[in-house]
Amino acid sequence: MFSRILIANRGEIALRIIRACKELGVQSVAVYSEADKDAPYLKLADEAVCVGPANALESYLNIPRIISAAEITDVEAIHPGYGFLAENDHFAEVCEDCGIGFIGPSAESMRMLGDKVAAREIAKKAHVKTVPGSEGEIKDENEAIKLANKIGYPIILKAAAGGGGRGMRVVHNDISMRTAFQSAKAEAEASFSNGKIFIEKFIVQPRHVEVQVVADKAGNALHFFERDCTVQRRHQKLIEEAPCPVLDDKLREDLCKAAIKVVKQTEYAGAATVEFLLDKDKNFYFIEVNTRIQVEHPVTEMVTNQDLIKWQLKVASGQTLDIRQKDIKLQGSAIECRINAEDPDRNFAPSPGRIETFIPPGGPGVRNDTYLHQGMMISPYYDSMVCKLIVHQNTRAETISTMTRALDEFVVDPIKTTIPLCREIINHRLFSKNDFDTSFIEKHMQL
Ligand code: ADP
Repeated sequence: MFSRILIANRGEIALRIIRACKELGVQSVAVYSEADKDAPYLKLADEAVCVGPANALESYLNIPRIISAAEITDVEAIHPGYGFLAENDHFAEVCEDCGIGFIGPSAESMRMLGDKVAAREIAKKAHVKTVPGSEGEIKDENEAIKLANKIGYPIILKAAAGGGGRGMRVVHNDISMRTAFQSAKAEAEASFSNGKIFIEKFIVQPRHVEVQVVADKAGNALHFFERDCTVQRRHQKLIEEAPCPVLDDKLREDLCKAAIKVVKQTEYAGAATVEFLLDKDKNFYFIEVNTRIQVEHPVTEMVTNQDLIKWQLKVASGQTLDIRQKDIKLQGSAIECRINAEDPDRNFAPSPGRIETFIPPGGPGVRNDTYLHQGMMISPYYDSMVCKLIVHQNTRAETISTMTRALDEFVVDPIKTTIPLCREIINHRLFSKNDFDTSFIEKHMQL
C-alpha cells in the first residue's frame, strides 16, 4: 500500500478520500485553491498545499501546479477524485512520466474509453450491444440527415468527448437537424475542445443502468452490481439507487457480465463504470464507460458493504483483488439524493453564499457525504453539488420512507438547494411504484 498520496480535488470527494486513507493508514495531502483555504476538511488531511487562485484553471485543473505540489510533498500517487483532472489522459500520462502513481487506469485505457466513439467500437468487439448509430464521427449535417433517415428519427447527437450531459441534442426531423448539428458541434468545441459528433438512435423512455467494476493490474475484474440513475434533469443525474429495481436476476447477471467483458477489452486496472440504457422491452444497450470513481458510488458501497475508494487505492498500489465474485453480495436497497446549491425558482442557477443554519439528518440507515458545516461559504467557483444524502434499508419501500424522513430533517439555510425537489420526487407515487424513465422530472415535476 502507498504510504502517502495527494488528492487532486476538493469538497466532499476530497474528504471521502481522506477518510479512506486514514482507515488504511495512508497519509493524505490535500490541495486547495485560495477560495477553499478555510475549508475545515483540509485539517483532516496530514498536509494541505495551496495550488493557486479560485479559478480552477489556475488551481485544481492546473497540471504543473498539481505535479509541483505532489513533488514538494513527496507523495507516491495522486487520487484525482471525479471531475477536474479525473478523466484527463494527458494528466495520467504526466503522472506516469514523473514517476507518480495515478489512482485510476493507464493513460492508454483512458484514451481508448474516454472517446465515446472509440468506446462503442470496444463494446462491439466485446460482443456487447451498443445503441444503433453511426460507425464513427459524423462530419456534417448532410451526413447526419442521411444516417438519421436510415436509423429513423428521433436520434440524439452526442459529443465523442462529452460529459455532464453537455453537447447532446435530440433531433426529430431533417429541418431541426441543420441547426442542432451546428449547435451541438459548437457546444462540444467550447466545452471539450473537441467538436467530434456522432449519432445514436434516441431510445424512448429508457432507464439508465450502470455497472460498477473494479479491475486489478493482474487482469482480474469484479463487478459490484448495478445502479439505477434514471432520475435525471437535463441528462444530469439527481437521484441514484442500487440495486436497479427493474432488473430480475437473469438480466442483472447478463448486464454485469457484459460490463466485465467491455472492461476486459482494454487491459484496464482501476474502478470503472459501464453505462447502459434499458429500453421498455428490457433490452440493454451500452452507452459509455466512465474511467473514474463516480459521484453515486456510495449506493453501491451500502448494498455491497464494500469500500470502493479503498479498492481504488489497493489496486493502484499493485494489490490484487483478494475477494471472489461470489463474496460480493447484494444486501437491501440504497438511494442517494444529490443536494445541489441551486435555485429551482431561477432555473437551477447556482445559489452560493453563507450557510447560517446547517442541520444534517441522522439516525439509522442515514449517511451524509458532505464537507458542509454551519457558517461556511458555498463558493461560486465550483460545482454546485455540495452534499450527498444516502439511505440504506432492507427494502426499497423502507429506504423511501427513511429518505423522506431524512429530507424532512435536513436544514440548509438560507441557501436554495435541491432538497425540496428531491423530496417531491421521493414522495411521488410513480417513484415508489417504480414506474418512471429518464423523462420523469420533465414530465412530472412542477418546475
Ligand atoms: P454524459 O457523458 O454527458 O453523461 P451519457 O452518454 O452518459 O452522457 O448520457 C447521459 C444521459 O443522456 C443518459 O443517461 C440518458 O438519459 C441520455 N441519453 C444518452 N444517450 C441516449 C440515447 N441514445 N437515447 C436516449 N437517451 C440517451
